[in-house]
Amino acid sequence: MELSVVVPVFNEEECIESSFTRIKSALNGMKNVELIFVNDGSRDLTPHKLNSFKGKHAEIEVKVLNFSRNFGHSAAVLAGIEASKGDLVAIIDADMQDPPELIPQMVKKIHEGHDVVYGLRLSREGETFFKKLSAWFFYRLINSLASIDIPKDAGDFRVMTREVVNAVLSCEDHSPFMRGLVAWVGFRQSPFPYHREERKLGTTKYPLRKMIKFAWQAISSFSNTPLLFITYLGLGMTVVSGLIGVWALKQKINGEVIPGWTSLLLGFLAGNAVTLLMLGIMGLYLGKVIDQVRGRPRYIVKND
Ligand code: UDP
Ligand code: MG
Repeated sequence: MELSVVVPVFNEEECIESSFTRIKSALNGMKNVELIFVNDGSRDLTPHKLNSFKGKHAEIEVKVLNFSRNFGHSAAVLAGIEASKGDLVAIIDADMQDPPELIPQMVKKIHEGHDVVYGLRLSREGETFFKKLSAWFFYRLINSLASIDIPKDAGDFRVMTREVVNAVLSCEDHSPFMRGLVAWVGFRQSPFPYHREERKLGTTKYPLRKMIKFAWQAISSFSNTPLLFITYLGLGMTVVSGLIGVWALKQKINGEVIPGWTSLLLGFLAGNAVTLLMLGIMGLYLGKVIDQVRGRPRYIVKND
């Protein structure tokens, strides 16, 4: 196999047929290609449609992996690259927001001496202001927190060499943040600027709930800064409490008794709120450790 193309798919019955046709014609002209669809526990007609694509289509061999349930986009990408045999591996979404016609050009760029060629979004067509704003904020936040440089405005649309894929697969993160891992392994990485298209069929499979989960996965995988922040905040609050204590003692000695309980109550409530928030963040990290220690598989593929 020269090239494996991995496509994570979740409830895409509206677009999967036209996407398949488009990928086929985009890769027309390339030799020894395998196309791996990873069905991430779709509950619509997607699995049925994917099944009908299986087999050889000229130079393209189509394979389908079916998850036993929805494990999420990252797990689907991981399963796809784990099953891939190609010297090069490409990742692309099923909704064709990332044009598959660019894959041959990205492959060419790899042959010019790069190990990873990742799509850099110059624009995002047809996405809501909120999605664009949250994405903009997310890429900047993760970069300011993470100890490695994760390319801004780059999704999972990319082509990698086998060497990079093997390096990524050697990471045993329980909930892998794929684009972070690809950045983390190093090698020669190069951006490929492109315009992200609008989703023409179906709807986004990333509602706010999944976006928040994804952001936490990214931050907790590559940064301990929130824990450091907690420590500093705790230190700061200790100093402030000490100063207030000294001041209160002085007032008492001078016989000036503090009249209001409102300030006391507010201070108490705010203090507790901050403590709970900090405990919550620590709990989330601890939860991540527990997930890792349990050592459950990151996804389950079921038999056809
Ligand atoms: N996807 C998936 N599992 C999920 C959610 C999404 O495999 O739990 C797939 C989806 O079918 C698509 C890709 O991941 O191929 C990106 O999802 P989507 O286009 O909905 O995200 P957006 O582009 O809106 O961020
Ligand atoms: Mg999309």
